[in-house]
Amino acid sequence: MSLARIRIVLVRPQHPGNIGAVARAMKNMGLSSLVLVAPREFPAPEAVARAAGADDILASAQVAESVAQAVAPCTRVFATSARARKIPWPVLAPEQAAGALWSEAAAGHEVALLFGGERSGLANEDVDFAQGLVQIPVDPAFPSLNLAAAAQVLCYEIRRQALGPPPAVTDHVPTSQDELNRFFAHLETVLIGIGFLNAAHPRKLMRRLVRLFRRATPDQNEINILRGILTAIPVAGQPPANLDKISQE
Ligand code: SAH
Repeated sequence: MSLARIRIVLVRPQHPGNIGAVARAMKNMGLSSLVLVAPREFPAPEAVARAAGADDILASAQVAESVAQAVAPCTRVFATSARARKIPWPVLAPEQAAGALWSEAAAGHEVALLFGGERSGLANEDVDFAQGLVQIPVDPAFPSLNLAAAAQVLCYEIRRQALGPPPAVTDHVPTSQDELNRFFAHLETVLIGIGFLNAAHPRKLMRRLVRLFRRATPDQNEINILRGILTAIPVAGQPPANLDKISQE
């Protein structure tokens, strides 16, 4: 069932009642995969009460320690946000994001939609995992929706896609976050090795490069080409890298 491949990820939710209300919103729209990253309180009776019969979604919810873990197998990740961010990510309307998530899920891939906690939303470090931001076009004078209300809007848009005509079939093989992370580790090693990146302060440049590659959504072929290029770059003092070994890391 393709809708089951679309995971709703709540990052550091504060109120168990909202977790239950999100489960209810999901079940109404036929979604079932809920992942909680470091919830403040879960399981909780209040979550069950607000789920109003969607207890099965709570019972099967996975708890992850980090966003990285929550989205590891996913080939497409979008982050929802009430506010614009200083660093420009592509901003998608709910319908566009739902269409992209649905077509990839229908093609058999795991995908994720991230929601932030009630108090401060998603941190920029969380958004780094996403290929784009999704904003519900609310009144800018009062932009922040309740977490479960935001989840309801997005789950509804996903359902509309699922009820529509089937997405076009492509031979595009997308890359999972795990595979992308292995590429980033390889890239960082080579950039340090050739003296382009200062090993003591690699973060800022790496974050920018990570964002660039996530936005570009390279497929598996393209990642293999990039890994091949990295492998061919001579790094002083190191034997030539072995691609077979790297791909098993
Ligand atoms: N106070 C936080 C908002 C928290 S609302 C802030 O200013 O960022 C909880 C979550 O609901 C948000 O992190 C986001 O995932 C979602 N959300 C709320 N309003 C939204 C909107 N207008 N568009 C998209 N997502 C929204």
